[in-house]
Amino acid sequence: MVTGGCLCGKNTYQLTGKPVDCSYCHCTVCRRLTGSAFGAYGSVSSKDFTWQTGSEYLSCYRPTELTRRYFCQQCGCFLLTEHSDEPGQVFVSLGSLADATDVVIEYHQYVASKAEWYRIDSALTGYPQGYTE
Ligand SMILES: [Zn+2]
Ligand SMILES: [Zn+2]
Repeated sequence: MVTGGCLCGKNTYQLTGKPVDCSYCHCTVCRRLTGSAFGAYGSVSSKDFTWQTGSEYLSCYRPTELTRRYFCQQCGCFLLTEHSDEPGQVFVSLGSLADATDVVIEYHQYVASKAEWYRIDSALTGYPQGYTE
């Protein structure tokens, strides 16, 4: 059982499976979402993800019809993404995990749009655009 949550502790969740297909995303959207050099995400089957507390503190940002991004209203932590064109999966913001010992980052993606000030110093493969299997 893996748990996670936001900075202020109002929103918590639990996972019954470990995140897979974990990556760093350097796309412009993820840089702005996180206010940082990249986002770090893992995929989890939606049936393995459960919100534990905090629904009244959860905000949903819908930049497109297909995408829902969940944030804490109080502390602003970006916790989860759902894409309706990828049903059955959710994408957990890895920094929100309380115990991430099972997480293995596999690659960088969208490195073509990475922050100019960030130098990728890593042996992982960097894909210019999104990674597709
Ligand atoms: Zn919070
Ligand atoms: Zn991205």
